[in-house]
Amino acid sequence: MRMVSVGGQQLGAYRESAGDAAVDALHALASALRGVRVLHLSATPYGGGVAELLRSQVPLLRALGLFVDWKLIAGDDAFFAVTKAIHNGLQGADDTITDAQWDTFRSMSARSAEQLDHAYDVIVVHDPQPVAIAQLAGRGSSLWVWRCHIDTSEPNPEVWQRLAPYLEDYDAAVFTLGGFVPPDFPVARIEIVPPAIDPESPKNIDLGSQLARRVLGWIGVDLSRPLVTQVSRFDPWKDPFGVIAAYELVKEQVDDVQLALVGSMAFDDPQGWSVYSALEGVVRDNPDLYLFTNLTGVGNIEVNAFQRLSNVVVQKSIREGFGLVVSETLWKGTPVVAGRAGGIPLQLRDGAGGFLVDSVEECAARVVELLRNPDEAGALGRRGRELVRERFLLPRLLADELRLYAALLGRQTPPRPGRGEAGFAGETRDPVCGMRIDYPAAALTAVSDSRTYAFCSQSCRHEFLRDTARFLRSDSGSIPVAGNPAD
Ligand code: UDP
Repeated sequence: MRMVSVGGQQLGAYRESAGDAAVDALHALASALRGVRVLHLSATPYGGGVAELLRSQVPLLRALGLFVDWKLIAGDDAFFAVTKAIHNGLQGADDTITDAQWDTFRSMSARSAEQLDHAYDVIVVHDPQPVAIAQLAGRGSSLWVWRCHIDTSEPNPEVWQRLAPYLEDYDAAVFTLGGFVPPDFPVARIEIVPPAIDPESPKNIDLGSQLARRVLGWIGVDLSRPLVTQVSRFDPWKDPFGVIAAYELVKEQVDDVQLALVGSMAFDDPQGWSVYSALEGVVRDNPDLYLFTNLTGVGNIEVNAFQRLSNVVVQKSIREGFGLVVSETLWKGTPVVAGRAGGIPLQLRDGAGGFLVDSVEECAARVVELLRNPDEAGALGRRGRELVRERFLLPRLLADELRLYAALLGRQTPPRPGRGEAGFAGETRDPVCGMRIDYPAAALTAVSDSRTYAFCSQSCRHEFLRDTARFLRSDSGSIPVAGNPAD
């Protein structure tokens, strides 16, 4: 297993963006956990949301006094072809995974398991790629957490049947959304913790518009014309061809509009290459379409500039884990038009941030609306930024992470601040977004099956009522209805 080396970082830098109270609360929380040893296991050091999160979290957890390592599992092309098929299967795709491929998955996982150093108090395993290691290495004296970042609400039954036994040894599982828990999930303790963006990373710092313009000017983007952008891995679930179809419709009404597709390659995502080649074929003949990747140096600063200077950012996902790109964009005050998928509705809600869409036509219509109404676009972007500040900045995620370690290790933590943190098992929490709810003061409730559920917002309540059964799989935050006010 390879250790990922990350630089140092200080929490003081986060006082301006997240506020003094959030940073002070982190120091107080961490005092109960000094010296605790934590290992994060993942598949790739770059490309995609998990790498993004760990790159930011690991140095800060160290700065808070914990011993934290980030290691990568072993893998080759055959292994990552299977793990991408597993990833797709967990998101509901009906690809077949052969017995030989499952053997590849198991034998490569066993190779990583042999190399596992058990000297950690908590081992956090990210996504399906490393999931088998807990069973194959043996639990040892560590506590094991599966951190699932993808939408596993309706997995392909065959894939789920083969994978679920590997989860039986875990002490806890963490999902991004209440509704992501698969049927018959074998881990008793389930937490719901949405991820967050790092306001101090080069991708998200305030570049200033002049510098941002120079960055995009240098790579040949014409900033005198309207620009629509999607930033994401080249993955069918991100629907890049749907984005192009929507763009063609937009162009019928706004004829000088341009589209940029900005994507990164991750070494655990072999599918990225075939999607990229197919896109190249489409883009080649159209001078108003840009296709950029990290392979030609379009990295964090360029992504920052695209998210800042585009008139509208699109994230037309069909399935999505959280979609960090949405919060990244909103943090720059840019409005987003995005697929109603996974964690995206947590970020675009109640008139803040932009619009949720369910089709190519709707996507195009909303983009045109925002291009034609810059005041509306600006107001949505500004409200979106405030929502991100309240909910989706890194210090909130770090606090949730620390409280999870403390809860698993049986450590006492300081009393909780009133709001803005995930509610853990045993507390009253919003069954959709996982936020801790101050009940009975909570104004928004719904009753299902003789239990009362409390919500942080109308959007979450609406999502819950759309598909109640799905959200009940992670239920532990409800209150028996007797004697409680409910609507
Ligand atoms: N990303 C990037 N360069 C790109 C495309 C994506 O740095 O060309 C980053 C993006 O900014 C975000 C992450 O990759 O931080 C993608 O995370 P998200 O949760 O949106 O999707 P995932 O790839 O995890 O499915």
